[in-house]
Amino acid sequence: MHSYNTCRGSLRRLFGTDGVRGVVNVDLTPELALSLSLAIGTYFKPGSRVLVGYDTRAGNTFLVPVVMGGLVSTGIKVFDGGLAPTPAIQYYVRRAGFDGGVIITASHNPPEYSGIKVVMADGIEAPREAEEEIEEIMRESRFRRVPWRELSHRVTRVEDIVEKYVNGVLELVDSERIRRYSFRVAVDPANSVGALSTPELLRRLGVKVVTLNGDLSPTPSRNPEPSPENITDLTTYVRSSGVDLGVAHDGDADRAIFVADSGAVVPGDSSAVLLCQHIVENRGEREPPRVVTAVSSSTIVERVLSRYGIEVVWTRVGSIVISRTMQSLGAVAGFEENGGFMYPRHQYVRDGAMAVALMLELLSYSGRRLSELLNNLPRRYVIKRRVYAPRELLPRVYEELRRRFPSTRVVDVDGVKIVGEDFWILVRPSGTEPLIRVFIEGVSEEVAGGLFKEVLEVFKEVYGCEVRTA
Ligand code: MG
Repeated sequence: MHSYNTCRGSLRRLFGTDGVRGVVNVDLTPELALSLSLAIGTYFKPGSRVLVGYDTRAGNTFLVPVVMGGLVSTGIKVFDGGLAPTPAIQYYVRRAGFDGGVIITASHNPPEYSGIKVVMADGIEAPREAEEEIEEIMRESRFRRVPWRELSHRVTRVEDIVEKYVNGVLELVDSERIRRYSFRVAVDPANSVGALSTPELLRRLGVKVVTLNGDLSPTPSRNPEPSPENITDLTTYVRSSGVDLGVAHDGDADRAIFVADSGAVVPGDSSAVLLCQHIVENRGEREPPRVVTAVSSSTIVERVLSRYGIEVVWTRVGSIVISRTMQSLGAVAGFEENGGFMYPRHQYVRDGAMAVALMLELLSYSGRRLSELLNNLPRRYVIKRRVYAPRELLPRVYEELRRRFPSTRVVDVDGVKIVGEDFWILVRPSGTEPLIRVFIEGVSEEVAGGLFKEVLEVFKEVYGCEVRTA
């Protein structure tokens, strides 16, 4: 969310790809949070039981009571789940039979941000239709005002969310097998809620755990985005200490980015390929042999998984699209290239702790180090850029790309993805910002750079000038 103004009718921008996000007290003010929570409360039926959970962000000090108050006034029975990872709240909503959940977090965004997202009774993020309905209630100020006699439910504290979540993960993996290896793992939860779940999970798997940036702090010492430049504390530690694995979470711990024993940061789609392979080969779950991911993931995914008879279904970018596609088609796993891994036997959402447990199970089956397993994956070089140009001419860009790369496969569920023998190019409009995203992967830096130049030529030809990139 960048702005909110009913007079200009910019409500359509309220919900982004993952809830409402903004800089606290700039975009995400108490007034906005109150209207939004009144609308969310009105959306759910009167008397609905809604679980509210949150991360450690500074702005949540005021957002949490504002949101809870708004929900209560519309006749919602609010349960306070406290500080908890997003997947723990989602898991608990479904398992404990809540009617829905509200999660106050801005995931991987910088610390000055927060956000509000709604999950449905099945724990999955609210679909676009529900968000539109909430926006409409808000636009029309059509809030339910409940008489005083119906306001007797006090906000009830729920204490065992993280415990139940960790137990749920442990039930699904071969703990005994993992314990035999006495793994050593370093965890960096970005001073946020991952510190409550992953170290505990690991200890219960017999792992010797070292936690970096583990104290819960509204002013974190690490940026919540687990990108290579932000997790150098962890990579340095892994390299110097000789531990078996590093794990970095984002601010709400639904993503897990792994650091191999070599200290190399593992791209999310590479770790996902290994986990999918593990699920099918070692865990024997191949009914149906199908995984779901967004077009922004590497086509290496397909090349490697096809060897195991696994079909890859490509979707638009956005975790909820992956979740719902997994549900409707049936799939043994789903993932995003940013480290969001979904294992439907646990839940149909990104699930940081589940990914960690599966990774250790995989290492225990293979008997090899993660760096060795990665050596078996094809080498590649990735370029990700933003292009600042009007989107109206994008169809012509797509057309020109198809013309320039005639003997390639085209995946067009979100922008255009040109898939060649050993490269791919994706050009798509951003889901959250007014710009165009370009992803390129080649076997080397030179190849990827050459392809990027060619894509820029396409833009130049279509737009009649050089385009600005970042
Ligand atoms: Mg997240």
